[in-house]
Amino acid sequence: MFTFVRSPGRQHQATLDRVHAAADTATRIVEQQMRGRVGPVDLAVASSSGMWDLVADAHRPMFGRQDPRVWQHDLHAYGTTTITATGVLVVINAQACRGRQDEIDKTLLHELTHALQFNRSGARPLIESSIANNYGIAPMTEREVAAANRQVDADERDAARMERHHRQLAQSI
Ligand SMILES: [Zn+2]
Repeated sequence: MFTFVRSPGRQHQATLDRVHAAADTATRIVEQQMRGRVGPVDLAVASSSGMWDLVADAHRPMFGRQDPRVWQHDLHAYGTTTITATGVLVVINAQACRGRQDEIDKTLLHELTHALQFNRSGARPLIESSIANNYGIAPMTEREVAAANRQVDADERDAARMERHHRQLAQSI
């Protein structure tokens, strides 16, 4: 189910260990709550800047050479989820979550909810258009931006709601 991509530095080993321990249970909780499948996920633990490098690396085969600075305005994000050429990438920001097990668990639940959303049939074209728009490759119309923003808002509401299950997650590990 999970492919762990690239190991973070030793200072983030505790976060990596927690993510390893919690990923399967977090997936079960998300799938029960959302009545869907998370699907295959590339899972990574990285520093703040490493997180956006991984995102840019994942996008490069799909969109051409890309610049992580497009995303780096959000260095404090606890995690992020994006599509890759073959599936979905989830990155946990170990620098932001460091020493905060609750935040690691909440972030895992949040981002795996996005993985499920992005793996839904029909979800990818809108995400691809949004990414191409952000890179300046293919600008979206105002109408398309509004539709994409509505989807992002709905997805974020569900992902934020999922964080409430972090105690259940901690008790089940
Ligand atoms: Zn989110």
